[in-house]
Amino acid sequence: MFELLKTDTTSKARMGRFRTPHGTVETPVFMPVGTQASVKALDSRELLEMGTQIILGNTYHLHIRPGMEIIRAAGGLHQFMNWTAPILTDSGGFQVFSLAKIRKIKPHGVEFRSHLDGSPLFLGPKEAMEIQCTLGSDIAMVFDECPPHDCTPKAAEEAVERTMRWAAECREQPRAPGQSVFGIVQGGVHGKLRERCAKALVGMGFDGYAIGGVSVGEPEHEMMEAVELTEPFLPADQPRYAMGLGTPAQLVELVARGVDMFDCVLPTRVARNGTAFTSKGTISIKGGAVKADFGPIEEGCSCFACRNFTRAYVRHLLNVNEILGLRLLSVHNSHMYIDLMRQIRRHIAEGTFGEFRKQYAATYVPSQKILDARVKRALKVEDRG
Ligand SMILES: [Zn+2]
Repeated sequence: MFELLKTDTTSKARMGRFRTPHGTVETPVFMPVGTQASVKALDSRELLEMGTQIILGNTYHLHIRPGMEIIRAAGGLHQFMNWTAPILTDSGGFQVFSLAKIRKIKPHGVEFRSHLDGSPLFLGPKEAMEIQCTLGSDIAMVFDECPPHDCTPKAAEEAVERTMRWAAECREQPRAPGQSVFGIVQGGVHGKLRERCAKALVGMGFDGYAIGGVSVGEPEHEMMEAVELTEPFLPADQPRYAMGLGTPAQLVELVARGVDMFDCVLPTRVARNGTAFTSKGTISIKGGAVKADFGPIEEGCSCFACRNFTRAYVRHLLNVNEILGLRLLSVHNSHMYIDLMRQIRRHIAEGTFGEFRKQYAATYVPSQKILDARVKRALKVEDRG
């Protein structure tokens, strides 16, 4: 299903192609997060127009609302939300361990209470795969345990043990027609654990492999380390997915470390705070500085918002709480991420990724506020993929 088309000569960056029942995905790829069967503030027409190839949906949230009875009656998640391109679904493991009040970890899953109304629920490998089968996603993820980044080595080891056992169980469950299943490598920043987990999962034979246990409040160097410790043990001819990451500059660096797939809530989340991503860093579109700025959100950007509206207008909309302001900024930010991946693919194809990477790192000014927001929010996640 995955075809490795080209590998960069200056780094581990790769270009590939992944076939799914709803179409082919060119990698490296960014997947906008559609937690509640919606990429916040964007409709499917806008997503397709900006070049979105695949989106992410969440098992945990969709299981709670609207529930699988409705999804089944609708004919699956694609039909329900009118999204015709591929969908990857998270298994719910991350949300169970970060959002819900856990009552008991059992051999075959977790007893917990819904974060919404406290009702008792159970999610394990069997349930997570059953839900993803009903959702009919193109790529399903195994049910894993994602511990906090500062957990004890013993807790990290237990999480790896459970993750491996549960992955084996997930492997045996029925799937939707043509559905791929990806394993998730845990193990924090412990090299031995990462290696053990990766080798065990590869031995089971999944269609792709995710690097989990990142985007859980860890500092950037630990995020990079987790990826570097895992990547050598993943097969070159299968896709690799880093879950829940990151800023544009981090994505370039993660591609350089051999990652093919990404999802992140940052583009739509920071839009809600009036912040725009640009290729040089973030800028505020809410402040007085752009009050009479009649240029686009980002000079040279080809998104719908930048082609048609000015900073001054978007700022005005944001300041009077008009929904359109938030929508336009979400269009720009999501387009920015999608377009970054398009540029990366082109540079890998043309053999200029090394130059591009150097230039990006030199011109992109990371915002501490954004990095902090990513970390803080990760600790009380609502909608990470
Ligand atoms: Zn734009």
